[in-house]
Amino acid sequence: MKQVISARDIEELFRQGRDPQSLPADAILTPSARDRLRELERNGARQVAPAANPVTSKSSPAELEAYFHSPRLHALKEQMCEMGRRLWQRAYVDGNGGNMTIRVGDDIALCTPTLVSKGFMKPEDMCLVDLEGKQLAGTKKRTSEILMHLQILKRQPRAVATVHCHPPHATAYAVAGVEPPTCMIPEIEVFIGKVTIAPYRTPGTPEMGKLVADLVDQHNTVLMGNHGAVSWSPENIEDAYFKMEILEAYCRTVWVASQLGAPLKTFTPTQLQDLLKIKQTLGIPDPRFGLKECELCDNPEWRPGVACAVTGRPDQAPAPDAEAEALVQAITNQIMAQLK
Ligand SMILES: [Zn+2]
Repeated sequence: MKQVISARDIEELFRQGRDPQSLPADAILTPSARDRLRELERNGARQVAPAANPVTSKSSPAELEAYFHSPRLHALKEQMCEMGRRLWQRAYVDGNGGNMTIRVGDDIALCTPTLVSKGFMKPEDMCLVDLEGKQLAGTKKRTSEILMHLQILKRQPRAVATVHCHPPHATAYAVAGVEPPTCMIPEIEVFIGKVTIAPYRTPGTPEMGKLVADLVDQHNTVLMGNHGAVSWSPENIEDAYFKMEILEAYCRTVWVASQLGAPLKTFTPTQLQDLLKIKQTLGIPDPRFGLKECELCDNPEWRPGVACAVTGRPDQAPAPDAEAEALVQAITNQIMAQLK
């Protein structure tokens, strides 16, 4: 029987630094395995942790310094400067606010410096830290909010990059303690989903990091009470930044729409279910996968006049195992092919 390769097998292959070409030629890749393979190849994940002698926090200072000044990390530092410029130009950061990280090895990450405007950073301003926040390279001091980013990277192994900033309309929701409504614009449903709010804690404290990290297996973008927003991406820093554009545009649009005096129109549960199907094929997590249609559009604060016909208990709905479903599908296809 042909070998069926799951997304988990693909991740293990990359973790071991093996080449996907080494898979049997007739192996069957599940749809999510194909997506994960494309995603990892796009990231150049093989270069993140090369099989031979990868750089870690335990490498010698000379090795760390050489890696920190390598062409690959220089390119990533330039990307951080570019994202910083975009954050500043869009007024998502103020003063020296906002910060970013990129995972560049098993237990090391690049991050932005403290006390520097994100709109005017230079590649040489960036810092290298281990996942406990200890600085390993760079002349400027690392961001004071690093612990939150590192807790996200530790809790969410798929996270490659994180962005934190203070976009005004999104932050207004975080100040009011109102979760942005759902079911109004496709972009946010597919690329982000329901945005939740982590309770306020003093910025930079481990407690703040923990409260956000507790949410990142179900959410790629989280509002931070009385503070701002943070996002993570399995792809790259630009993708994490895009989530901020999507979130802020959405919050601004819904806020303006709510001033117009007409009831806000929303997707039907069936329309939302269609968007969630697209999202599942893209491999983006969402706590609503597996909910019944009647349970999907619940947000009483911002859904005036919308009532679900059936009251569900989303927290009791068992989450489906997408991986198992994909495997069953692949095996079924194989059996059908053999019967022909
Ligand atoms: Zn902040």
